[in-house]
Amino acid sequence: MTEPLLFELSTPGRRGYTLPALDVPASALPDDFAREDLPLPEVSEVEIVRHFTRLSQLNVGVDTVFYPLGSCTMKYNPKINDAAASLPGFTRLHPYQSERSVQGALRLMFELQEALGEIAGLPAVSLQPAAGAHGEFAGVWAYHQHRGDAARDKIVIPDSAHGTNPASAAMCGYDVVTVPSDAQGNTDLAALEALADDSVAGMMLTNPNTIGLFDENVVRAIEIVHNCGGLVYCDGANMNALLGTSKPGDLGFDILHYNLHKTFSTPHGGGGPGAGALAVTPALEMFLPTPLVVRRDDGSYGLDYDRPQSIGRVRAFYGNFGIMVRAYVYIRMMGADGLLQVSEDAVLNANYVLARLRDVYHLSLDRTCMHECVFTDERQVEYGVHTLDIAKRLIDFGYHPPTIYFPHIEHLIEGAIMIEPTETETKATLDGFVEVMRQIAREAAEDPDLLHNAPQNAPATRLDEVTAARKLRLRWTPQ
Ligand SMILES: *Cc1c(COP(=O)(O)O)cnc(C)c1O
Repeated sequence: MTEPLLFELSTPGRRGYTLPALDVPASALPDDFAREDLPLPEVSEVEIVRHFTRLSQLNVGVDTVFYPLGSCTMKYNPKINDAAASLPGFTRLHPYQSERSVQGALRLMFELQEALGEIAGLPAVSLQPAAGAHGEFAGVWAYHQHRGDAARDKIVIPDSAHGTNPASAAMCGYDVVTVPSDAQGNTDLAALEALADDSVAGMMLTNPNTIGLFDENVVRAIEIVHNCGGLVYCDGANMNALLGTSKPGDLGFDILHYNLHKTFSTPHGGGGPGAGALAVTPALEMFLPTPLVVRRDDGSYGLDYDRPQSIGRVRAFYGNFGIMVRAYVYIRMMGADGLLQVSEDAVLNANYVLARLRDVYHLSLDRTCMHECVFTDERQVEYGVHTLDIAKRLIDFGYHPPTIYFPHIEHLIEGAIMIEPTETETKATLDGFVEVMRQIAREAAEDPDLLHNAPQNAPATRLDEVTAARKLRLRWTPQ
């Protein structure tokens, strides 16, 4: 018989209890990591609960404050999607179960493929890629390799692109050629024409672009690339602005990745899980990763591995299933009208902020925006106040700072302050934020040092960013 648990717990001398030395081989840990004793504080349950509750409140999130980083980082995600994804019938599935025993999950995946194909206007869909960047890699991979078009070794990418676009193209072995933005923030068509020859495998374009603008030249730019024999890839990370209003497939795009975790409601702050579903034209369907989820003639659902031209698997098993459940529930709950309203409200909210701040903050491109508006610090620089100071001051008012210094386009946008309110914020919330931004603009003129020393009310004040970046401390050290 084993000793009763209570007996062990009531062993005398627990005060100042120290962990026994771990029984690991000497070689398993570097000496300075291997601690003999680790003194643990003796605290009561309420003390420990209060400690962790307090720590959790030091963190800022979309559930506590307005968070203008937007869909790209974190928009409001209906809690019911999490509840659905947590249902035991989903969480307890095993990827090696027989098709017959997972018909519900396969049906969900199949219907999600169908919905995503319809929203993009690109009907063939793979749910496999695990992030936007992963979708880019899979999407750029196959076509020209398959055709043996070795002479096509270039991918054209605008200077406003997200860094993952050139990275993905380079990882697929292509040379990246940059096409500039024109003075209106659209793809510079003359520059693109000059680049377009039979060495171009394709172009990667974000629409709306990272300046938050609908590229007015998108149709013509796609034509130019098609005319020289290339394909056009749409970085669909900004689909939050386009749902139900514009289908990338109708504009002429051949391939698109969604960031399901951005547009279709999965909490993913802090680099959490992603899903970069890929949608392509029927002509490219044969290259999609295996397996695809299919509906068989008898109405059952299955996994199709019989795809000889496929680029094969791009990850273990079938994709991030929990994110698919959230995306599916979100799309089904919203319906076509709801999704249209998501984008209309997202665009309306961004334009409201733009209209209410344009007299105090500089706009490099004074146009109607899509889901985000991009100001710069140009007017505040004359007082010695920069974008970073404005962002830090927002913390004092309880707001999470927006994305700053991105996009950076030489001679067009420097010192960017990119605000993406998203569709769920009320007018009252936006008004509160706008008033604070206006106050900060006044402070910049009257008391610049207040901004230089911000944040003043946060648990951590201004960090020495240069030292932090240059002298990384990557491990815990005792005080
Ligand atoms: C987020 C984002 C990506 C990359 O997506 P991940 O899921 O983070 O890999 C690519 N392009 C744009 C425009 C993005 O916003």
